[in-house]
Amino acid sequence: MVIAGVDIGGTNLKFGLFDEELNCIYTQLVHTIRADTVACAKQIRQLLDDAPCKADILGAGVPGAVFRPSGRVNSGNLRWAGVNFGRTLEDAVGIKVWIDNDAQAALEAETLPGGSCWGLKDVVYLTLGTGIGGALLIDGKPWRGHDNGAAELGHFITHAGGLKCSCGMSGCFEMYASAGTLVRYSGGTRARTVLDRAKQGDKAMIEALDRYAGEVALGVCSLYMIFRPEAIVLGGGVSAGGEILIERILRHIEPCYNFDRSTIEKVLRLAKGRNDAGMVGAAALAKRNLLNA
Ligand SMILES: [Zn+2]
Repeated sequence: MVIAGVDIGGTNLKFGLFDEELNCIYTQLVHTIRADTVACAKQIRQLLDDAPCKADILGAGVPGAVFRPSGRVNSGNLRWAGVNFGRTLEDAVGIKVWIDNDAQAALEAETLPGGSCWGLKDVVYLTLGTGIGGALLIDGKPWRGHDNGAAELGHFITHAGGLKCSCGMSGCFEMYASAGTLVRYSGGTRARTVLDRAKQGDKAMIEALDRYAGEVALGVCSLYMIFRPEAIVLGGGVSAGGEILIERILRHIEPCYNFDRSTIEKVLRLAKGRNDAGMVGAAALAKRNLLNA
């Protein structure tokens, strides 16, 4: 049994093959073809064809809401609205497919043994990438909402009347705390480069990261207040910032009646799978939902 896992990001698409115990046996990283769902499905078909062994089932995480039972997918980042990507993908690849939200997939990976949320029951998971994804674990169970579309944590508003978001609203957390803001604050430097230079002590890049971290802190405080979780986990491309990112976020935590910096310090952590969690989790969800169905 070989399980394929795909994490379709707004910028990159990560593809991997896994054995039944979810050990990774092959990975590929390519730029996401965002033209439309058919082009994206063809790209995944090509990755399956080029892989060293044949996959039996496929799990795919998408940066947006995946509604059930309709199968409708909305993704502002990919500019998909109401598309049945699962059906398109299944037609293209000829094997059983499980589609899910990318952050839900990443959370699934992080709850596996060795993950950052192993053994925890109440978790808020954030992917900081091209957009911001979210997933919730409440009392040990993923919180999906009545139609599976819950936990779009990039789209609560942190700046009323602020920047217009791809979701249609203005001032969403995503518009201020995704990778694009880091690029904007640094004067156009790539997010990964900002993080690398900040780690090396580059003052201008530390300043950009610090300003960005203030935006993340706004979201982290609101989410802590609402959910009071055991952990708030940061994944996605920006989590490559590692400890300096965490440290800068903590500097912006203002004490309030309900928590202070030390409270947040105890719960804020980095995803262990970092940028691979979405791909591993997509495979894990395919295994759980397709093999045991
Ligand atoms: Zn939005």
